Amino acid sequence: MTKINSCQSCGMPLAGADNLCGTNKDGSINKQYCNYCYQNGEFTSNLSLEEMIEICIPHVVSADKEMNKEAAKEMLEEYLPTLERWK
Ligand SMILES: [Zn+2]
Repeated sequence: MTKINSCQSCGMPLAGADNLCGTNKDGSINKQYCNYCYQNGEFTSNLSLEEMIEICIPHVVSADKEMNKEAAKEMLEEYLPTLERWK
């Protein structure tokens, strides 16, 4: 399986999209996180894993027609804890 570069906080795919990447304190690009989660070397909000799951559900549902709210929640509950921020 190919490892897709995605945000290690919310799971958003970042492959080939530097404009979606977060930024470090010195203004350089941080490819580990997206710019919604991480800006200027800090997380934009201090969320719990549960809050992050709630925020991500509508995005997953709108991105994938096959997904309903319950399936998205289940997927996120399995996927997000594997990301760097939540380990
Ligand atoms: Zn993110």
